[in-house]
Amino acid sequence: MAVNIEAYDQLKEELGKKQVTLVAVSKTKPLEDILELYQLGQRDFGENYVQELADKAAKLPADIRWHFIGHLQTNKVKYIAPFVQLIQGVDSPKLLNEISKQALKCNRIIDCLLQVYIAEEESKFGLDEWELDDLLSRLNELKGVRICGLMGMASFTTDMDKVRKEFQHLKKIFDRYSRVSTSTQNFTILSMGMSSDYKVAVEEGSNLVRIGSLLFGERVKLNPDGGSIYE
Ligand SMILES: *Cc1c(COP(=O)(O)O)cnc(C)c1O
Repeated sequence: MAVNIEAYDQLKEELGKKQVTLVAVSKTKPLEDILELYQLGQRDFGENYVQELADKAAKLPADIRWHFIGHLQTNKVKYIAPFVQLIQGVDSPKLLNEISKQALKCNRIIDCLLQVYIAEEESKFGLDEWELDDLLSRLNELKGVRICGLMGMASFTTDMDKVRKEFQHLKKIFDRYSRVSTSTQNFTILSMGMSSDYKVAVEEGSNLVRIGSLLFGERVKLNPDGGSIYE
């Protein structure tokens, strides 16, 4: 399936005006599709399966900035630690500890976003506000990570009023912490919005959107969670 160049150009213009970063979510999509966008100047790509990300990163240009956007298992951090640009979606102290440990092994500091649970419906991964507060108060021991902001996913619904409320909630939390700046904490990124709700997200203050299907077409659902052919 070909990349939707028209949608890409439109997104670039729309988001560029507002200085919103576009992460092109290429999970399950072939290398050629990624290269097609790369040749148009796109450098930020998002993946959410470790094996798939590691395989793609090894085969594609080294100046691609790879974002890990899914649920990351602690025992897999080591495979992406050497090169990952931003780990979006850190949802536990245990995971953050491991990222810090692996980062130091690679002699680097890894930028992370903490994922906050904002959707009312079902159980999505993420921290609640209490856990967020607790985690941020204990950052100092973690020399291998820098917390650059927050990531959230709204409910999977066509009710845009509900989605908007959830984004507003996350923006409020973000603003509370964005005043704090220390060596381990520099809140500048608010990652919210996907293909179906990025417009609302940007209206509510998002400065990074993660867009897949709008650019690359619908994903073929090869396993029940619509996930990767690699795992
Ligand atoms: C797959 C995915 C996206 C992109 O979803 P689209 O609806 O295809 O734009 C964004 N964020 C996360 C965390 C994802 O897993």
